[in-house]
Amino acid sequence: PLAALAQDLNALLKETHAKFANLPGGANANYIPFLANVPSNLFGIAIVTADGKVYEVGDSKYEFGIESISKAFVLCKAMMDVGPDSIMHGIGVNATGMPFNSVIAIELEGYSPQNPLVNAGAMAANSMVKGPDKDAQWQIVLDYLGAMAGRPLKLIDELYKSEAATNQHNRAIAMLLEAYGHMWADPLDACDSYTKQCSVGVSAKDLAVMAGMLANGGVNPVTRKRLLKAEYVPKVLAAMSMEGLYTTSGEWLYQVGLPGKSGVGGGVIAVAPGKMAIAAFAPPLDPVGNSVKAMAAIQYISEKLDLNLYKST
Ligand code: GLU
Repeated sequence: PLAALAQDLNALLKETHAKFANLPGGANANYIPFLANVPSNLFGIAIVTADGKVYEVGDSKYEFGIESISKAFVLCKAMMDVGPDSIMHGIGVNATGMPFNSVIAIELEGYSPQNPLVNAGAMAANSMVKGPDKDAQWQIVLDYLGAMAGRPLKLIDELYKSEAATNQHNRAIAMLLEAYGHMWADPLDACDSYTKQCSVGVSAKDLAVMAGMLANGGVNPVTRKRLLKAEYVPKVLAAMSMEGLYTTSGEWLYQVGLPGKSGVGGGVIAVAPGKMAIAAFAPPLDPVGNSVKAMAAIQYISEKLDLNLYKST
């Protein structure tokens, strides 16, 4: 049956890629200059099963900016460091119902970031990851992301420079959080480390391995290294269900029924616990920031494999 599954998954990936390769709609993120210039027609998909088998198609090895998807993974590291209660009480785990970089969301609900998967909460989560100094803290974050991918990851320097030069809004959010007592490091250092984590280069295949850790109870399915306590995995997946696809997280869950996370670099991941992780990449985004083709591809695959978590059988 495993060989049959392998054949099926390869065929399904090919079929999905062909079906959506010319799907129109969306546009590259334009508020970060580097992202605006990534070729729009790139399209890759990868699946990693909970037992560590890797399947890929199209531009699955092309390295792009991980962006917001890093928020889910740095949340794992912060949870390992401070525990899930500090995440819930220090950041929050409710949906903001507002854009990922909303300042109003912070002001309206108890002056807190509300969720670790929006910019405010992601910077707060980053600030919970401790290091002896700024550079060492960043190295700890980067090493954790690399352990998740099963290979050392690197900054896309040009992307980092492009973001750092244009991240005044995020710096303002970080300062605001400091004023409200929701920062656990120097706010501008946390913002910088967050900007770096967003500028890490990954492929769709890397993302599938990284998300595979969440499909496999906290153990990287390829390297077999434990990176997250098993009992924390459902908490990270709950946060993803709540806020993983920006303001359309509800629509995603309604249609696909899997926790997911997207980033403005064009990547999307989805996790079917105990089964597999799916990652897809294509730069054109819908108006709220989700990759149009990546979402369509993952939804199609999950329907074909009957992965919706809310089904009884
Ligand atoms: N670095 C981006 C920002 O903070 C990430 C946004 C995203 O992918 O949602 O604006």
